[in-house]
Amino acid sequence: MIRIGIPRALLYYQYYPMWHTFFAELGAEVVVSPPTTERVLASGSSRVVAETCLPVKVFLGHVLALVEKCDYIFIPAIRSVKSKVYNCSKFLGLPDMTKAVIPESPPILDIDIDISRGQRNLYQAVYQLGRHFTQSPFKIRQASKAAWQAHLNYHRVMSDHGLTPPQTIERMLGTPEVEPKIRSSNPTSWPTTIALIGHPYLLYDDHVNHRLIHRLEQAHNRVLTPEMLTTQQLESAIARLVGRAYWTYEEEVVGAGEHYLGSGADGVIGIMAFACGPDSVMMDMVQRRAARLRTTPFMSLTLEEHTAEAGVVTRLEAFLDMIYRRKRRRAEVCV
Ligand code: SF4
Repeated sequence: MIRIGIPRALLYYQYYPMWHTFFAELGAEVVVSPPTTERVLASGSSRVVAETCLPVKVFLGHVLALVEKCDYIFIPAIRSVKSKVYNCSKFLGLPDMTKAVIPESPPILDIDIDISRGQRNLYQAVYQLGRHFTQSPFKIRQASKAAWQAHLNYHRVMSDHGLTPPQTIERMLGTPEVEPKIRSSNPTSWPTTIALIGHPYLLYDDHVNHRLIHRLEQAHNRVLTPEMLTTQQLESAIARLVGRAYWTYEEEVVGAGEHYLGSGADGVIGIMAFACGPDSVMMDMVQRRAARLRTTPFMSLTLEEHTAEAGVVTRLEAFLDMIYRRKRRRAEVCV
């Protein structure tokens, strides 16, 4: 059986159920790299220049963790998933960068996904990918349909049940959950609600964010994330704030930020990576919006490989302290 390696990084959190279903339907075995550790991050960092953003360093570390564990590694170059909405250049060059800096990598399956070039282009790319496993166009078509259905189910389960990507992956595919858990319980039993905005590869990688979700929950806060909103909620929030999206995955920052600033969260925390061009623009928009509205406190945290855990904890404690005091003051005024 052909083994396909999938790095547990970057777009894994958006598309893993779809990718897994496609390869499994075509008879392949899917191998996922283990969760991020200091060693994984250090190995990825050692292959690129210091200015590279943290998530790409983490991704390369995961590719290295898959060397000799699979026959191919799947690294698509995702240029656009919506017409005239563009992806960060790092995603476009990911297969080429990986080949250049990790020559010992197993062969890379590197299809181009570019919706801006039309549906036909997408079908051809998927067909070329499927040809590695079967010559039957029918089987490839069936696998594509099953994969798309898995993708729709994945997003529906997250927004319907308020689950995170790791929890949903575990529920759908039985992959043991190793990332932070968000406890699902009666929302009214949580005294404070904190919304986290940012890309899933920052929010759900426990090593990268120093167990942020776990820390918030330990302090008895209910945590909300972008995946708990529907596509319609995210799109209408984007339309309110910027008209139309320019960047792919803008929903996770601008859409979720605008929605949660106006929907009763007690505080919003924006998580971004150092050296990320798109996020520095998008997070700034959310920050300005928060300053204009003056209804919900907002804090942004920038993560890089040298971010000290103590620094994250101190800022988190100060932010939560401010929110608790604010809530107490309001409660006193109402009495
Ligand atoms: S969007 Fe930012 S963090 Fe993500 S890959 Fe691009 S530069 Fe890196």
